[in-house]
Amino acid sequence: MKALVVRKDEESGKTSAAVEEIGIDDLPRAEVTVAVEYSTVNYKDGLCIGPGGGLVRSYPHVPGIDFAGTVEASDDPRYSPGDKVVLTGWRVGEAHWGGYAQKARVKADWLVPLPEGLSTRQAMAVGTAGFTAMLAVMALEDHGIKDGPVLVTGAAGGVGSVATAILAHLGHEVAAVTGRPETEAYLRSLGATQIVAREEINETVKRPLETETWAGCVDAVGGAMLARVLGQMKYGASVAAVGLAGGAGLPATVVPFLLRGVNLLGIDSVMQPYDNRVRAWGRIARDLPMDKLDAMIRPATLADLPQLGADILKGQVQGRVVVDVNA
Ligand code: NDP
Repeated sequence: MKALVVRKDEESGKTSAAVEEIGIDDLPRAEVTVAVEYSTVNYKDGLCIGPGGGLVRSYPHVPGIDFAGTVEASDDPRYSPGDKVVLTGWRVGEAHWGGYAQKARVKADWLVPLPEGLSTRQAMAVGTAGFTAMLAVMALEDHGIKDGPVLVTGAAGGVGSVATAILAHLGHEVAAVTGRPETEAYLRSLGATQIVAREEINETVKRPLETETWAGCVDAVGGAMLARVLGQMKYGASVAAVGLAGGAGLPATVVPFLLRGVNLLGIDSVMQPYDNRVRAWGRIARDLPMDKLDAMIRPATLADLPQLGADILKGQVQGRVVVDVNA
């Protein structure tokens, strides 16, 4: 079978990624063998295709932090051959070989049955980024979304695109922050009604509180942008912090929490319990318009991955890359 294998040269410490033929016995031992159909490209995949950044446990390595496909063999009674399944998280593609291969062997606990109404291709158009966007929306809902515009940062990226489409479909007014003005038509097609230039939010402001503007926020960027947004939230509103595409530091003050009761909700898609994953995938099948999802898809093959991995680390990928591992 074909796989994208990352190897490390022990002498130079450099890694290189190439499509290779591997055998079924090369795969790690685990209960369920899945014939992978589609995988995707997430920020972490960019890291794992490259030098690993501490994520990859050992080399050679097959990245791909998510995949969807059909069960081929199972030692676990929960899954039978022919079942359609989806996997995100559990450090698959990092500590365990992942979805950039025509087959994967994984623990049954890590899988979720594909929800009714979603194809394996659509599930991967959603992928980890979209699954995380849904978790972020659910966290905002749990804390109550105020009246007014909901901000989405890093909007043209994977998490941002799906969050924009879901929030708009649920009837919220969505303000999309992007550093790429050329994506305006795309973001409006997903349902954003307001486009905010990245510089507008990134501009340095000394005041810890500004006009109460946002009724909620899905933040994929972190860093200075998240710090500024905290001071612009409405009283009692919540920010679901998903990512750090703009930096891991948080140059903020405690004032928005103390004087505006702002909630900062951390979202982790990796260790989500089974019931939450099933609930989130069910909501995705229901609350994400499939025509909008189609507009986000950029098709790719295993051979495209080294370049796409580099592109996503530079923030240059729009929407969701869907990798057909059999193409
Ligand atoms: P993408 O690269 O697809 O999107 C990130 C977007 O952020 C870019 O498209 C760009 O949007 C914006 N951006 C990039 N660099 C900067 C910068 N320096 N300053 C401001 N904005 C920037 O990545 P994903 O959407 O897949 O992931 C986003 C983040 O979420 C990543 O940090 C990722 O690791 C994290 N993540 C976390 C998960 C979790 O479980 N918590 C799960 C999945 C992802 P634009 O061009 O519109 O400005």
